[in-house]
Amino acid sequence: MRRANVRGRIAVIARGGMLFRQKAANARAAGAVAVVIVNNAPGPYRGAVLEDLGLPVVSVGPEDRARLRAARTATLTLSLKREVVRGANVVALSPGARPEMLFGAHHDSFIGSPGLNDNGSGVAAVLEVARMLRGTPLAGRAAFVLFDGEEDRFQGSRAWVRAHPDVTRGLRGMLSLDMVGVAAEPLAVGGSASLVRAARRAVPTLGTFDDDGLSDHGTFQEAGVPAALLFRGLDANYHAPGDRLVDPKLVTETADVALRITRALLGVR
Ligand SMILES: [Zn+2]
Repeated sequence: MRRANVRGRIAVIARGGMLFRQKAANARAAGAVAVVIVNNAPGPYRGAVLEDLGLPVVSVGPEDRARLRAARTATLTLSLKREVVRGANVVALSPGARPEMLFGAHHDSFIGSPGLNDNGSGVAAVLEVARMLRGTPLAGRAAFVLFDGEEDRFQGSRAWVRAHPDVTRGLRGMLSLDMVGVAAEPLAVGGSASLVRAARRAVPTLGTFDDDGLSDHGTFQEAGVPAALLFRGLDANYHAPGDRLVDPKLVTETADVALRITRALLGVR
C-alpha cells in the first residue's frame, strides 16, 4: 500500500478495488477535504457512496486524470440537490398472521442499472416460492416481502422491521434472495451461523461465504432474527447498465433451495 499525505487536500483516487464508500471513508480518515474518483474506463460514470461521509465525492473520466495530476491547486465547485423520496415495500401476509419464515428480496435497483439480476432475479425467486407454497400448510406460516430501498442502505427492510416488531419477533428465520439469476459463482448461503448450518444440512451442495451484511437479511439479524442471504456472487454486470439477463432455471433452483431450507428449519416434510 502506498500512503499519500492528503490532509487538507483533495484526494484523487483511481476507481476499482473497493467500494466508493470505503475509498471516501479512508480518504476522510486521512484528513482529505474532498474526493475525486477517476474512472477506469473512458468517460464519466455514476456511483453512490450511500451515506453522508461529511466530504464531497465526485467522479471524472480518465481523460481528466493528467490535468488533475499536473494541477497544484484545484477548486471543486458542486451544485447539490437534497431530495426526500418515497419508497414502497410489497408485502404478502395474511391479516393477523404469525409467520415463522420470511422470504425477502429487494425490488429496487442501482442507479443506471436495469437490475435484472440485482434484483429482478430475487423478486422472481420469492414469487416462485410463494407459488410453490400455494395451498400447502406452509403457506400460512410464511411471509413474502419485496423491499424497496435496499441499495439505499436497506431503507425498506428497516422500515418494515420498525413497523412490525411483533411479527419480526415471531420469525424463526428470514431468507434474503439477492442476485440469484446469473451463475457468477455456485449458489451459496451466508448469514446467521444457526441458519447457515441448517441450510447446509438441508442442501449439502450449498456453498458458504463470509457475510458482510450485503443485503436485507442484515436488518433482520440486527433485530435478533436468524437470517441469511442466498446469493450467486457478483457478476460482470453488477450495478452496471448491462444487468439485463437472468437464467430462469437458476431462479427456480434458488426458490427450490429456499423451500428445502425452510422445510428443514420448520420441521415440515
Ligand atoms: Zn442486491
